[in-house]
Amino acid sequence: MKADAVPPPVPGPALGEEQDGRWVCVSCGFIYDPRRGDPARGFPAGTAFEALPEGWVCPLCYSSKAAFDRY
Ligand SMILES: [Zn+2]
Repeated sequence: MKADAVPPPVPGPALGEEQDGRWVCVSCGFIYDPRRGDPARGFPAGTAFEALPEGWVCPLCYSSKAAFDRY
């Protein structure tokens, strides 16, 4: 068997998808950037928005995660 038909491996970005994982608070415009995380409240850089607990709120206006949209 020759390997000609095997596609080359796709270099995958760490955070997947076509966007970069940022989310924006529709209430105040705060942008959550997973590369920064929320270290002030114990979520280090690299924490994906999806990985934040349901109880996490916007650092600026205290809206819930439901108030965020993909940026
Ligand atoms: Zn906010």
